[in-house]
Amino acid sequence: MKETDTKKTEKEDQRQNLLPVDELRQMIALFNPCTDDYLFVLDFQEDTYYISPYATERFSLPEYYFHDVVNNLLAVTYEKDRGALTEDLEDLLASKDRETHNLIYRWLNTEGQPVWINCRGRVVRRDGEVVYMVGCINEIGRKQKADNVSGLLGESSLQMFLQSYADEIPDGYILRLGLDNFKSINTKLGIEYGDMVLRRMGDIIEQCVHDGQHLYRIVADEFMIIDFNGGTASDASELYRSIRRSLDQFVEENHYEAFVTVSGGILLCRDVQDFSWSQIMKFSEFALTEAKQLGKNREYIFSQNDYDAFLKRRMLTQSLRQSVANNMEGFEVYYQPIFHSNTGKLSGAEALMRYHTADGMVMPGEFIPILEETGLIIPAGRWILYEALRFAKRMEETIPDFRVNVNVSYVQVMKSDVVEDIMEALRVCDMKPKDLVIELTESGLIESDVYFTRLWKQLKENGVRLALDDFGTGYSNFHYLNDLRPDIIKIDRSFTMRAMANEYEYNLLSLLSGMVRNLELKVCVEGVETEEERDKIALLPPDFSQGFFYGRPCAQDVFEEKFIRNAAVQW
Ligand code: C2E
Ligand code: CA
Ligand code: CA
Repeated sequence: MKETDTKKTEKEDQRQNLLPVDELRQMIALFNPCTDDYLFVLDFQEDTYYISPYATERFSLPEYYFHDVVNNLLAVTYEKDRGALTEDLEDLLASKDRETHNLIYRWLNTEGQPVWINCRGRVVRRDGEVVYMVGCINEIGRKQKADNVSGLLGESSLQMFLQSYADEIPDGYILRLGLDNFKSINTKLGIEYGDMVLRRMGDIIEQCVHDGQHLYRIVADEFMIIDFNGGTASDASELYRSIRRSLDQFVEENHYEAFVTVSGGILLCRDVQDFSWSQIMKFSEFALTEAKQLGKNREYIFSQNDYDAFLKRRMLTQSLRQSVANNMEGFEVYYQPIFHSNTGKLSGAEALMRYHTADGMVMPGEFIPILEETGLIIPAGRWILYEALRFAKRMEETIPDFRVNVNVSYVQVMKSDVVEDIMEALRVCDMKPKDLVIELTESGLIESDVYFTRLWKQLKENGVRLALDDFGTGYSNFHYLNDLRPDIIKIDRSFTMRAMANEYEYNLLSLLSGMVRNLELKVCVEGVETEEERDKIALLPPDFSQGFFYGRPCAQDVFEEKFIRNAAVQW
C-alpha cells in the first residue's frame, strides 16, 4: 500500500468508527484484571491474535499474542471440535456480509482437558473484506460465583478465596453447615417454600457471623463459613450453636410448618496439611457427613484418625464387594468346637466367617457390619451355609450326629428368602435338618419381629434347630424364651464374665439355667477361657460349652486334625 493510500484508509476507518487493532489490544490489556471472560482481537490482515493475558493461565495457548492464528487456534481446540471451528472460519472468510461469529466448542485447558467455551465475535470489514474480529470468550461450564436464591457468594468465589491461601495455612476454622432433610421440604412443601427456607437460612447465618468471617453458599443446602482470624474449636461450636438457636426460632415462628434442623462439620485449619481446594472440600464434607451420621442437628469436629478409619472402611467395603462378586475369593470359614458338658464329647462346631486381604486377616467384628449394611451378607450368608453343611457332611463320617451351627443375620431374615435358601442347601448337601443349628441374635430380632417369628415358625416346622445367640447382652427379653422356645440358648461371654466376677450375676445365671431347663431348652455357655471359669461353670451345669479353653476357631483342616482325629481336648 502506498503512503497516500494508507492515509486515505485511516481517514475512512475513522469515519466508519474502525478502531486500529493495536488500540484494541491495549484496551484488552487494560480490561484484563476486570473480567472473568476473555476478550480477543483477531487481525486477519496481519494474521495475529491477541487475547486477555490471563487466558494463558487457563488454556494451553502458546502465548497471549501470537501469529499463525488458524493453526494455533486449532492446536488449543479439542480434537473433536476442530472440524466445526475450521468450517466456521472458512465460511466467515468466504462470506461477503457475515458479521458475527458465535460458536460453542471446547478448548483444552493447561492440563489438556476439554473445557466448554462460547466464542462470540464481531467481524469488522473494510470494503467487504474482513479486517479483524473482536470478541469475547466465556466458559459456559463455569460455576456461578453468586447465588441468587440465597443472595450469597457461591462455590467458585469460595474456591478463589481459598486459593489465595494455598501457600500459607491460615489460623482459624471452616464451618460447613448442611440443612438436615432439606429434600423432604422441597417435596412436601414445594420448591418455592424450599427457596424461602434457604433464603432465611442465609439471613440467619449472615446475622450470626462476625466481622471478618466469610460466608458462602455451596451446593444446594450447604453453607460454608470461613474464619481465618484465629477462631478456635470452641468459637466454631459457639457459632454453630447460635445458628441452630436462630433456626429453631424460625421454625417456631413458622408454627413448625417446616421442621428444619442444621448439622455442622468443623474443620480446624491446623488439621489440614495440604491446604488445597480439593482437600478442604473433602475434609469438610466428611465432617458434615459425620455430624449427620451421628444423628443430625449436631456438630462434629474433623479428626484425621476418624477420617483414616473412614477411608479404611471404604476400601474394605470395595474389597468385600469385589470378593463377593469374585466367587467369595478371600473368604474362609473357621470352625469352633462345641462340646457336651456332661460327657466332654464333641457335639459339633460353630461356623465363623473370616476374610483375608493383602494386609492380613480381618475379623467379623469389622466386616460383618459392612456386609449387613451393603446387603452383601445375603450372598455371603448363603455361601457359608453351603460350606458349613458340606463340612458337616464330611464330619458325620466320623461323628454320626455332628451338628453345625450357622449364624444368620437379621438382614438375611428381612431381605431374602432365607428359609428357602436353608432348605435348598440342606437338600443339595444331603443333610438332615436336625443337624443344622441356625443362630440368631436377640438384638436383630426386636427390629424385625414379624419376619423373625415367621422364620422361626417355618424353620421349626421343617425340623431345623434354633439357637438364641448372645443371650445376656442387650435386652434379654425373657418372654422370648417362652414364646419362641428356641432349642438352645447361647449365653454370651460378657454374661459369663459378669457371673464369674459377681455373685449376684452368678446366681442370676444359675437361676436362668434352671428356668431354661424347666422349659426343656438347652443352654450353651460361650466364651469359656480358663480352667477356673470352666470349673465354676460346671456347677450350673450347662448342656454345651464353647470357648477358647476348649478350642479356638480354626480352619477346617486344623479342626479335623485337632478335634476329630486326635480328639486332644483336656476336659
Ligand atoms: P458370635 O456368633 O457370638 O460368635 C462367637 C464369637 O466369640 C467368635 O468371634 C469367637 O471367636 C468368639 N469366642 C469364642 N470363644 C471365645 C472365648 O473363649 N473368648 C473370647 N474372648 N472370644 C471367644 P468371631 O469369630 O470374631 O465372630 C464375631 C461375631 O461375628 C460372631 O459372634 C457373629 O455375631 C459374627 N459372625 C461371624 N461369622 C458370621 C457369619 O457367618 N454370619 C453372620 N451373620 N455373623 C457372623
Ligand atoms: Ca453365634
Ligand atoms: Ca454368641
